[in-house]
Amino acid sequence: MSQAPRPLSLQAAQRLILDTEPFLSCDDCFDLVDRYVEALLSDPSHDHPAMRIHLAGCAACAEEARSLMWLVAEERGLDPAPALRHLGDGPA
Ligand SMILES: [Zn+2]
Repeated sequence: MSQAPRPLSLQAAQRLILDTEPFLSCDDCFDLVDRYVEALLSDPSHDHPAMRIHLAGCAACAEEARSLMWLVAEERGLDPAPALRHLGDGPA
């Protein structure tokens, strides 16, 4: 956890307020992971606290998210590195 804190966007702040239960189940995570991966690939500064927290603590879902990220990035000709770093991976 050596990352410098970044200022919250208004949207992120609103999501934080709306997320009264930030801890997802694996089922919830599975439902959201497609959109999360897409959002991260198109905007690496995207944040979804509940997903981030779940993926940080759940190796199975984190692995799923990584695989999906590589797949989607390849399909779109995008560089998955910034998004993967968001998942907690170090530089490739
Ligand atoms: Zn999980």
